[in-house]
Amino acid sequence: MTASRRQPARRTVVRGLRRAAGPWAGSVVAVRTPRPQVALTFDDGPEPGGTDRILTALADVGASATFFVLLTRVRRHSALFDEVVAAGHEIALHGLDHRALPELPPAEARAALRAGRAELEDRTGAAVRWYRPPYGRQTPRTWWEVARAGMVPVLWGPTTWDWKDVPDAERLVKAQEGVHPGAIVLGHDGFAGPDDLAFDGPPPLLDRGRLVARVLEQYSSRGLRAVSLGTALADGTAVREARFRR
Ligand SMILES: [Zn+2]
Repeated sequence: MTASRRQPARRTVVRGLRRAAGPWAGSVVAVRTPRPQVALTFDDGPEPGGTDRILTALADVGASATFFVLLTRVRRHSALFDEVVAAGHEIALHGLDHRALPELPPAEARAALRAGRAELEDRTGAAVRWYRPPYGRQTPRTWWEVARAGMVPVLWGPTTWDWKDVPDAERLVKAQEGVHPGAIVLGHDGFAGPDDLAFDGPPPLLDRGRLVARVLEQYSSRGLRAVSLGTALADGTAVREARFRR
């Protein structure tokens, strides 16, 4: 049999396995819940000028959130990280740094996930359940490594476009797109840079606290309150999908 004849058969097998694994191999993309609430999540912090203002915006309306942090930043902004923990928000892992796992050799990706989880758990004294892949990039292999490291990948539905250089008005429209009870909303309390091994250009100019306050106001006017993913799941079940993007 030639290589070209073997390839399609192999692809069919991989497709079949993925279908069979379906929900089991999935990432959390939303929460099935009877309650009028969204799961609010923030990536890339902690960052002075971003995280602190967002903490105030959340406290002002009694909202809670899940913070997917970078260990590079937890070490640099240790006191600010302590404030997030002290405010009672949920802490989850975005990475030791901001490199996408599919870029790393398998052994390095595995080590980074385990070291990241261990360092964060040492720091907070609480179990870390969730991992958000930088840029949402993951493959079946990296998904499996996250699971082996004892975590579940979490993706998202609506976003606030807070990493783009656009007017706040556009961000507010974007934050409403596809929002529903149980939606997982993606926001950022910082912008990863070269110190986090991210090379995505300069950060956009915005007041992250003001943006979050306005997004929360909009959700509230639709009867939705914002909670952490863990809180949302306490009264609901995870919606999982096998979503992969290199
Ligand atoms: Zn990120």
